[in-house]
Amino acid sequence: MHKHHSALGLAARTTAVSSVLERGIDIAKRKPVEPVTLVRPHAAARAARFFVERFPGRSMYAVKANPSPDLLRVLWDNGITFYDTASIAEVRLVKSTLPEATCCFMHPVKSEEAIAEAYFVHGVRTFSLDSMEELAKIVRGTDGATDLTLCVRMRVSSEFAKLSLGSKFGVDPAEAAELLMATRQVADALGICFHVGSQTMSPDAYSNAMERVRAAIVAAAVTVDVIDVGGGFPSAYPGMTPPPLERFFETIHRAFESLPVSYSAELWAEPGRALCAEYSSVVVRVERRRGDELFINDGAYGTLFDAAHIGWKYPVQLLRKPESDARDMDFSFWGPTCDDLDYMKGPFPLPADTNTGDYVEIGMLGAYGVAMRTGFNGFGTGETVVTDDEPMLSVYAAPAVAARASNVVKL
Ligand SMILES: *Cc1c(COP(=O)(O)O)cnc(C)c1O
Repeated sequence: MHKHHSALGLAARTTAVSSVLERGIDIAKRKPVEPVTLVRPHAAARAARFFVERFPGRSMYAVKANPSPDLLRVLWDNGITFYDTASIAEVRLVKSTLPEATCCFMHPVKSEEAIAEAYFVHGVRTFSLDSMEELAKIVRGTDGATDLTLCVRMRVSSEFAKLSLGSKFGVDPAEAAELLMATRQVADALGICFHVGSQTMSPDAYSNAMERVRAAIVAAAVTVDVIDVGGGFPSAYPGMTPPPLERFFETIHRAFESLPVSYSAELWAEPGRALCAEYSSVVVRVERRRGDELFINDGAYGTLFDAAHIGWKYPVQLLRKPESDARDMDFSFWGPTCDDLDYMKGPFPLPADTNTGDYVEIGMLGAYGVAMRTGFNGFGTGETVVTDDEPMLSVYAAPAVAARASNVVKL
């Protein structure tokens, strides 16, 4: 496995810690100057197995949520063999990491060159589209291929999602019939896909979307072979405890069973967040305290983009030994760059005596956290450490009652 790492030039500084309890990440002793990424392969494996075993169809991983090759291998090893890729670079990454994986190119606006490379070089046969223009591009880019699965992306409501995906993509239901009929002429298999928005808090989002799909199928009177319900499956964050994922799966299954689709139609999903949110957390150092503001060494240009720009709340815990017995108070964070936008309002509850030199673990950064890092202003990333303790929150395991206690052990 380490050969792989160096071949790709990635994760070169990964340190393996087989057991936190046995070997520890001696943060107190090592005093890492840069943010340390903790990865939990067992948590990603558990999420993958959950979807593989319980989702009533095929689960493809939406790579953009976290494109780490190590993570891709964990998901593959646990039964995820299809990957939702949205750029040619993601297709190349998946194929170079997992040569036998099947990539589906699910960005509805692609370059013709990307379509051609995906089809002819990487064997991609599934593409999404939301316009006649894109359909023409796919036909040209694949030289009129007759072995395509084409998924028409429909616009649906994002009302139950914490992060809307309702405006940018998707054919309007009123115009869907024409596009479905035209796509049917070209496609070997015709699909309909949608995205109800990320971190969707109610299964109703999917049943409502399926009603729009039903109306479109009836209006177009076409045979549909694939229903792809997209991503949006929720993870757990402070103040956001979603209903059990099984409830989402049951609702989707029921809605799918009642759709007027071909007898052999397949049901697909494209979970991103739900498969990787629990995979990573980041340990940051406090460089300065000013009242209730902590200046930390990661921020909006690092893993905390969503915390800065949409006020996302991540769980936090002070890593100090002996454990602080001060009562929690609410802090906000400043990131390391010189930009005023590099501010995370939180609030992030930490012991009131948290101060310069302390280390804080920020949890649930596996999805849209670690993946968003930039090197802006010279602030990058430090080491990656593999750990086998529980993530700070989980939708797959009973929350670890002693989460804080168990994390103190590793100091
Ligand atoms: C981002 C995205 C996903 C993953 O969404 P999550 O909310 O992370 O599950 C799936 N499909 C498409 C087309 C996307 O753009």
